[in-house]
Amino acid sequence: MRIGIHTSIAGELKNAALRASELGANTFQIFSCSPRSWNFAGVNPDAAIELRRTREKLDLQPLVVHDNYLINLAAADETIRRKSIAAFRAEIGRALAVGADYLVMHPGSSKGQAVQQAIATLVSSLAAAAGGVRFDGLTILLENTAGAGATIGRTFEELREIHDQLVQQADIEAGYCLDTAHCLASGYDVATGEGLERTIAAASQTLGLSRIPVIHTNDSKAPLGSQVDRHEHIGRGYIGKDGFRRILQHPKLRGKAFILETPIDKPGDDRRNLNALKRLAKTDRMV
Ligand SMILES: [Zn+2]
Ligand SMILES: [Zn+2]
Repeated sequence: MRIGIHTSIAGELKNAALRASELGANTFQIFSCSPRSWNFAGVNPDAAIELRRTREKLDLQPLVVHDNYLINLAAADETIRRKSIAAFRAEIGRALAVGADYLVMHPGSSKGQAVQQAIATLVSSLAAAAGGVRFDGLTILLENTAGAGATIGRTFEELREIHDQLVQQADIEAGYCLDTAHCLASGYDVATGEGLERTIAAASQTLGLSRIPVIHTNDSKAPLGSQVDRHEHIGRGYIGKDGFRRILQHPKLRGKAFILETPIDKPGDDRRNLNALKRLAKTDRMV
Protein backbone atom coordinates (compact mmCIF):
# COMPACT_ATOMS: atom_id res chain seq x y z
CA MET A 1 0.00 0.00 0.00
CA ARG A 2 1.20 3.52 -0.79
CA ILE A 3 0.62 6.08 1.95
CA GLY A 4 2.34 9.43 1.89
CA ILE A 5 2.38 13.12 2.57
CA HIS A 6 3.19 16.48 1.03
CA THR A 7 6.69 17.54 2.12
CA SER A 8 8.84 20.62 1.59
CA ILE A 9 11.82 20.92 -0.77
CA ALA A 10 13.29 23.67 1.46
CA GLY A 11 17.08 23.60 1.40
CA GLU A 12 17.43 20.93 -1.26
CA LEU A 13 15.13 18.87 -3.46
CA LYS A 14 16.10 15.55 -1.90
CA ASN A 15 15.16 16.83 1.57
CA ALA A 16 11.51 16.31 0.64
CA ALA A 17 12.18 12.60 0.05
CA LEU A 18 14.26 12.22 3.20
CA ARG A 19 11.58 13.91 5.26
CA ALA A 20 8.79 11.78 3.76
CA SER A 21 10.68 8.57 4.47
CA GLU A 22 11.65 9.66 7.95
CA LEU A 23 7.96 10.29 8.71
CA GLY A 24 7.18 6.74 7.57
CA ALA A 25 5.77 7.48 4.10
CA ASN A 26 6.41 5.42 0.95
CA THR A 27 5.07 8.03 -1.49
CA PHE A 28 5.07 11.84 -1.39
CA GLN A 29 4.08 15.08 -3.03
CA ILE A 30 6.03 18.31 -3.48
CA PHE A 31 5.78 21.78 -4.94
CA SER A 32 8.66 22.08 -7.40
CA CYS A 33 8.86 25.82 -6.59
CA SER A 34 7.24 28.24 -4.20
CA PRO A 35 3.48 27.67 -4.60
CA ARG A 36 2.54 31.31 -4.10
CA SER A 37 4.86 33.15 -6.47
CA TRP A 38 5.25 33.05 -10.24
CA ASN A 39 8.12 30.83 -11.27
CA PHE A 40 9.42 30.04 -14.74
CA ALA A 41 12.79 28.57 -13.78
CA GLY A 42 14.07 25.06 -14.26
CA VAL A 43 15.51 22.57 -11.80
CA ASN A 44 19.17 22.10 -10.94
CA PRO A 45 20.07 18.82 -12.74
CA ASP A 46 22.38 17.64 -9.96
CA ALA A 47 19.68 18.17 -7.35
CA ALA A 48 17.25 16.20 -9.55
CA ILE A 49 19.70 13.28 -9.77
CA GLU A 50 20.13 13.33 -5.99
CA LEU A 51 16.37 13.22 -5.57
CA ARG A 52 16.06 10.22 -7.91
CA ARG A 53 18.81 8.35 -6.03
CA THR A 54 17.23 9.10 -2.68
CA ARG A 55 13.80 7.92 -3.87
CA GLU A 56 15.23 4.67 -5.23
CA LYS A 57 17.14 3.97 -2.05
CA LEU A 58 14.13 4.66 0.16
CA ASP A 59 11.50 3.09 -2.16
CA LEU A 60 9.39 6.24 -2.48
CA GLN A 61 6.86 5.67 -5.27
CA PRO A 62 5.14 7.45 -6.91
CA LEU A 63 6.37 11.05 -6.79
CA VAL A 64 3.59 13.60 -7.21
CA VAL A 65 4.20 17.27 -8.01
CA HIS A 66 1.42 19.77 -7.26
CA ASP A 67 1.20 22.89 -9.40
CA ASN A 68 1.49 26.48 -8.24
CA TYR A 69 -1.63 28.13 -6.76
CA LEU A 70 -1.37 31.28 -8.89
CA ILE A 71 -1.78 29.42 -12.17
CA ASN A 72 -5.21 29.79 -13.74
CA LEU A 73 -5.21 28.28 -17.21
CA ALA A 74 -8.94 29.01 -17.50
CA ALA A 75 -8.52 32.75 -16.88
CA ALA A 76 -10.63 35.06 -19.00
CA ASP A 77 -7.96 37.75 -18.53
CA GLU A 78 -5.45 37.39 -21.35
CA THR A 79 -2.43 38.58 -19.28
CA ILE A 80 -3.09 36.08 -16.49
CA ARG A 81 -3.76 33.36 -19.02
CA ARG A 82 -0.47 33.94 -20.85
CA LYS A 83 1.47 34.02 -17.60
CA SER A 84 -0.29 30.84 -16.49
CA ILE A 85 0.60 29.04 -19.71
CA ALA A 86 4.29 29.94 -19.32
CA ALA A 87 4.25 28.97 -15.63
CA PHE A 88 2.52 25.67 -16.32
CA ARG A 89 4.96 24.88 -19.11
CA ALA A 90 7.71 25.39 -16.52
CA GLU A 91 5.78 23.13 -14.10
CA ILE A 92 5.76 20.36 -16.71
CA GLY A 93 9.48 20.88 -17.35
CA ARG A 94 10.34 20.64 -13.66
CA ALA A 95 8.06 17.64 -13.10
CA LEU A 96 9.86 15.83 -15.95
CA ALA A 97 13.26 16.93 -14.64
CA VAL A 98 12.66 15.60 -11.13
CA GLY A 99 11.29 12.33 -12.52
CA ALA A 100 7.76 12.82 -11.20
CA ASP A 101 5.08 10.31 -12.08
CA TYR A 102 2.20 12.76 -11.75
CA LEU A 103 1.63 16.49 -12.00
CA VAL A 104 -1.54 17.46 -10.13
CA MET A 105 -3.27 20.61 -11.29
CA HIS A 106 -6.27 22.63 -10.18
CA PRO A 107 -8.50 23.21 -13.21
CA GLY A 108 -8.81 26.90 -12.31
CA SER A 109 -11.49 29.55 -12.05
CA SER A 110 -14.17 30.41 -14.56
CA LYS A 111 -14.63 33.94 -13.20
CA GLY A 112 -16.11 36.18 -15.83
CA GLN A 113 -17.10 33.37 -18.21
CA ALA A 114 -19.64 30.59 -18.46
CA VAL A 115 -18.33 27.22 -17.22
CA GLN A 116 -18.28 25.72 -20.73
CA GLN A 117 -16.27 28.68 -22.02
CA ALA A 118 -13.85 28.36 -19.08
CA ILE A 119 -13.34 24.68 -19.82
CA ALA A 120 -12.59 25.48 -23.46
CA THR A 121 -10.11 28.17 -22.35
CA LEU A 122 -8.45 25.76 -19.91
CA VAL A 123 -8.09 23.05 -22.51
CA SER A 124 -6.57 25.32 -25.15
CA SER A 125 -4.21 26.82 -22.54
CA LEU A 126 -3.13 23.36 -21.41
CA ALA A 127 -2.58 22.28 -24.99
CA ALA A 128 -0.45 25.39 -25.55
CA ALA A 129 1.58 24.78 -22.36
CA ALA A 130 2.22 21.17 -23.33
CA GLY A 131 2.92 21.84 -27.01
CA GLY A 132 5.92 19.88 -28.26
CA VAL A 133 6.69 18.35 -24.87
CA ARG A 134 7.63 14.66 -24.67
CA PHE A 135 5.78 13.36 -21.65
CA ASP A 136 8.01 10.39 -20.91
CA GLY A 137 5.78 8.71 -18.34
CA LEU A 138 4.51 11.90 -16.70
CA THR A 139 0.72 12.04 -16.35
CA ILE A 140 -1.20 15.24 -15.65
CA LEU A 141 -3.90 14.76 -13.03
CA LEU A 142 -6.92 17.07 -12.88
CA GLU A 143 -7.90 17.55 -9.25
CA ASN A 144 -11.51 17.90 -8.16
CA THR A 145 -12.28 21.10 -6.28
CA ALA A 146 -14.40 21.90 -3.23
CA GLY A 147 -16.59 24.07 -5.43
CA ALA A 148 -15.89 27.46 -3.86
CA GLY A 149 -16.47 30.58 -5.93
CA ALA A 150 -16.12 30.02 -9.65
CA THR A 151 -13.74 27.06 -9.50
CA ILE A 152 -14.19 24.47 -12.21
CA GLY A 153 -13.81 20.74 -11.61
CA ARG A 154 -16.35 20.52 -8.78
CA THR A 155 -18.18 17.57 -10.31
CA PHE A 156 -16.89 14.37 -11.87
CA GLU A 157 -18.78 15.34 -15.04
CA GLU A 158 -16.82 18.60 -15.33
CA LEU A 159 -13.53 16.76 -14.84
CA ARG A 160 -14.48 14.24 -17.50
CA GLU A 161 -15.44 17.04 -19.89
CA ILE A 162 -12.02 18.67 -19.43
CA HIS A 163 -10.29 15.32 -19.91
CA ASP A 164 -12.18 14.49 -23.10
CA GLN A 165 -11.57 17.85 -24.72
CA LEU A 166 -7.92 17.65 -23.72
CA VAL A 167 -7.39 14.24 -25.24
CA GLN A 168 -8.96 15.54 -28.48
CA GLN A 169 -6.82 18.67 -28.65
CA ALA A 170 -3.46 17.66 -27.26
CA ASP A 171 -1.16 14.67 -27.07
CA ILE A 172 -1.29 14.55 -23.27
CA GLU A 173 -1.59 11.68 -20.82
CA ALA A 174 -4.22 12.85 -18.37
CA GLY A 175 -6.03 11.38 -15.40
CA TYR A 176 -7.52 12.56 -12.14
CA CYS A 177 -6.64 13.19 -8.52
CA LEU A 178 -9.55 13.09 -6.11
CA ASP A 179 -9.32 14.95 -2.81
CA THR A 180 -11.51 13.44 -0.06
CA ALA A 181 -12.11 16.82 1.61
CA HIS A 182 -13.02 18.44 -1.73
CA CYS A 183 -15.34 15.51 -2.49
CA LEU A 184 -17.23 16.04 0.76
CA ALA A 185 -17.39 19.82 0.41
CA SER A 186 -18.64 19.60 -3.16
CA GLY A 187 -21.45 17.24 -2.15
CA TYR A 188 -20.05 13.70 -2.54
CA ASP A 189 -20.73 12.06 0.81
CA VAL A 190 -17.53 10.05 1.31
CA ALA A 191 -18.08 10.07 5.09
CA THR A 192 -20.76 7.38 5.22
CA GLY A 193 -20.60 3.80 3.99
CA GLU A 194 -23.48 4.23 1.59
CA GLY A 195 -22.23 7.61 0.38
CA LEU A 196 -18.77 6.21 -0.29
CA GLU A 197 -20.24 3.40 -2.38
CA ARG A 198 -22.27 5.91 -4.39
CA THR A 199 -19.23 8.16 -4.86
CA ILE A 200 -17.00 5.29 -5.98
CA ALA A 201 -19.69 4.09 -8.39
CA ALA A 202 -20.01 7.62 -9.84
CA ALA A 203 -16.21 8.02 -10.11
CA SER A 204 -15.95 4.63 -11.73
CA GLN A 205 -18.68 5.36 -14.25
CA THR A 206 -17.73 8.94 -15.11
CA LEU A 207 -13.94 8.97 -14.72
CA GLY A 208 -12.80 5.35 -14.63
CA LEU A 209 -11.05 4.21 -11.43
CA SER A 210 -7.88 3.27 -13.28
CA ARG A 211 -7.53 6.93 -14.27
CA ILE A 212 -7.44 8.00 -10.59
CA PRO A 213 -4.00 6.95 -9.32
CA VAL A 214 -3.77 9.52 -6.52
CA ILE A 215 -6.15 10.33 -3.66
CA HIS A 216 -5.51 13.43 -1.58
CA THR A 217 -6.45 12.06 1.80
CA ASN A 218 -7.64 14.97 3.93
CA ASP A 219 -10.35 15.27 6.54
CA SER A 220 -12.67 18.26 6.14
CA LYS A 221 -13.35 21.09 8.59
CA ALA A 222 -16.38 21.99 6.49
CA PRO A 223 -19.50 19.81 6.18
CA LEU A 224 -21.02 17.97 3.23
CA GLY A 225 -21.94 20.29 0.37
CA SER A 226 -20.52 23.41 2.06
CA GLN A 227 -18.24 24.18 -0.93
CA VAL A 228 -15.63 25.30 1.61
CA ASP A 229 -12.06 24.03 1.11
CA ARG A 230 -10.62 23.57 4.60
CA HIS A 231 -8.46 20.57 5.38
CA GLU A 232 -8.56 18.97 8.83
CA HIS A 233 -6.48 16.36 10.68
CA ILE A 234 -7.45 12.77 9.94
CA GLY A 235 -10.33 11.70 12.17
CA ARG A 236 -11.12 15.19 13.49
CA GLY A 237 -13.31 16.45 10.68
CA TYR A 238 -16.57 15.62 8.96
CA ILE A 239 -15.17 12.47 7.33
CA GLY A 240 -13.91 11.01 10.60
CA LYS A 241 -12.05 7.85 11.53
CA ASP A 242 -14.72 5.44 10.33
CA GLY A 243 -14.92 7.30 7.04
CA PHE A 244 -11.19 6.98 6.44
CA ARG A 245 -11.15 3.34 7.54
CA ARG A 246 -13.72 2.60 4.82
CA ILE A 247 -11.85 4.67 2.22
CA LEU A 248 -8.43 3.17 2.95
CA GLN A 249 -9.70 -0.39 3.11
CA HIS A 250 -12.04 -0.19 0.12
CA PRO A 251 -11.13 -2.99 -2.31
CA LYS A 252 -11.79 -0.74 -5.32
CA LEU A 253 -9.29 1.83 -4.05
CA ARG A 254 -6.54 -0.70 -3.49
CA GLY A 255 -3.31 0.35 -5.18
CA LYS A 256 -4.04 4.08 -5.08
CA ALA A 257 -1.45 6.46 -3.64
CA PHE A 258 -3.04 8.07 -0.57
CA ILE A 259 -1.35 11.41 0.07
CA LEU A 260 -1.97 13.74 3.02
CA GLU A 261 -2.25 17.51 2.69
CA THR A 262 -3.35 18.04 6.28
CA PRO A 263 -2.45 21.13 8.32
CA ILE A 264 0.53 21.28 10.64
CA ASP A 265 -0.87 23.25 13.56
CA LYS A 266 1.72 22.00 16.00
CA PRO A 267 4.97 20.06 15.63
CA GLY A 268 4.37 16.37 14.98
CA ASP A 269 0.98 16.78 13.28
CA ASP A 270 2.43 15.42 10.03
CA ARG A 271 3.67 12.25 11.73
CA ARG A 272 0.44 11.86 13.70
CA ASN A 273 -1.72 12.11 10.57
CA LEU A 274 0.48 9.63 8.71
CA ASN A 275 0.33 7.18 11.60
CA ALA A 276 -3.45 7.60 11.76
CA LEU A 277 -3.76 6.68 8.06
CA LYS A 278 -1.52 3.65 8.49
CA ARG A 279 -3.51 2.45 11.50
CA LEU A 280 -6.83 2.91 9.72
CA ALA A 281 -5.55 1.17 6.60
CA LYS A 282 -4.81 -2.03 8.48
CA THR A 283 -7.54 -4.58 8.42
CA ASP A 284 -7.63 -7.11 11.24
CA ARG A 285 -7.19 -9.82 8.68
CA MET A 286 -3.94 -8.32 7.46
CA VAL A 287 -2.25 -8.45 10.87
ZN1 LIG B 1 -5.68 18.28 -2.71
ZN1 LIG C 1 -8.02 21.67 -0.60
